[in-house]
Amino acid sequence: MLSALRHRAAELGDRAVHLRTETYRDALRQVDEPLEVCHPTSRRAREFVRGLDRVAVLPPRGFVTAQPDFVAWADERRGALRMEDFYRYARRLHDVLMDDDVPVSGRWNLDADNRQPPPKGATRLDVPDPPEIVEDDIDAQVREDLDRWAAEGIEFVGRDGPRRFPATRAEALARLRHFVDHRLALFGPYGDAMLSTDPAMAHSMLSAAFNLGLLDPMEAVRSAERAHRVDGAPLSSVEGFVRQLIGWRDFVWHLYWYFDAGYRSSNRLAANRSIPAWFADIDADAVQASCLSDVLAGVRDRGWVHHIPRLMVLGNYGLQRGWRPGELVDWFHRSFVDGYEWVMTANVVGMSQYADLGRMSTRPYAAGGAYVNRMSDYCGGCRYDPRHRLGVDACPFTAGYWAFLDRARDRLGGNVRMTRSLRQLEQIDDLPAVLAQEQARGPHAP
Ligand code: SF4
Repeated sequence: MLSALRHRAAELGDRAVHLRTETYRDALRQVDEPLEVCHPTSRRAREFVRGLDRVAVLPPRGFVTAQPDFVAWADERRGALRMEDFYRYARRLHDVLMDDDVPVSGRWNLDADNRQPPPKGATRLDVPDPPEIVEDDIDAQVREDLDRWAAEGIEFVGRDGPRRFPATRAEALARLRHFVDHRLALFGPYGDAMLSTDPAMAHSMLSAAFNLGLLDPMEAVRSAERAHRVDGAPLSSVEGFVRQLIGWRDFVWHLYWYFDAGYRSSNRLAANRSIPAWFADIDADAVQASCLSDVLAGVRDRGWVHHIPRLMVLGNYGLQRGWRPGELVDWFHRSFVDGYEWVMTANVVGMSQYADLGRMSTRPYAAGGAYVNRMSDYCGGCRYDPRHRLGVDACPFTAGYWAFLDRARDRLGGNVRMTRSLRQLEQIDDLPAVLAQEQARGPHAP
């Protein structure tokens, strides 16, 4: 963020005044004129700027659907809000991948054609790496400042490393073009797969660039749509990418403002355990479970892993253990390069931890080791066995899955999408032993 801000100030030259002060208020004291500010990305910041004299708050930027349109759409529903429903509304509203009034190919969502496990035996996907980022003097200055602040006692998350994400419009555009030309085709089929030696796979890794305002999501959407219509890029990949942007990303942004401030502390599965220190400190080396250790190392070293490690490894583990959703929101917010309160609130509280009991998701994203085994290459080299729920090699995800269902069974009983899983739970004869084992494991790193 600092690098992007300083690069932009340098690009603007004498058209910009870049004030470096301890606080925002200190900077405001140095300016006499009336000011405009882009709509902030957290409630606290919005309250702050709204309370300032002579500062006008502009509408939000960097999203596709305008706030009044979302509110009108959501008010009409009056009940649970579903991304898929909003996504179709947005496709029509913005005329994306539409042939007149019908979706291209006649289907709105081609996810069923995707969701493939990684290619057998592969250690990486057959796609070229994104264009490299070359650091410059501005990055060197940012590094110096960060080192100085660390020496002064400010605590930072993760390990230092090269800048991996765009901080200028030129870098972001180069990454977008490269993604559309070389990586998009495999994004769809392998979007949910994980490979220990290929963390990026065919993901665009552009979320930080959208959040920083270096790219407009609609230009990426149009570029992907063109790739399909003109160059024949596979529709399942293009549709999946478009859904992430005008569907999911916009949806969680609008939900952040649409739900009241109390939504962030929803905890309807009564998850009351604190996040243990090894997780809070991203101590990947303390963890023996291959999947969790590797994903934590990715967060520590890159500040980024793609959406499935976030949801099905990190979030799934926390859900199974009953960690407080609010603490997880904070953790994701501070640990990820694209972490903002607006993006993590609905994603973690609603989707990953199901702490709102279905206001935005139809079921909790809880899964055992079989899911990780199917969708990754982690289990082969792990000291645990994804098939075992009991014993020294019991997979913590498999055992944790049943322990979670047992704990949440009363609250999930009315959910038809959980009926099958809850019925399976009834048939597990060694459940008391599994629960005792998980109790003994407690908050220790698996
Ligand atoms: Fe993860 Fe369990 Fe597979 Fe080990 S066996 S990698 S803990 S899912």
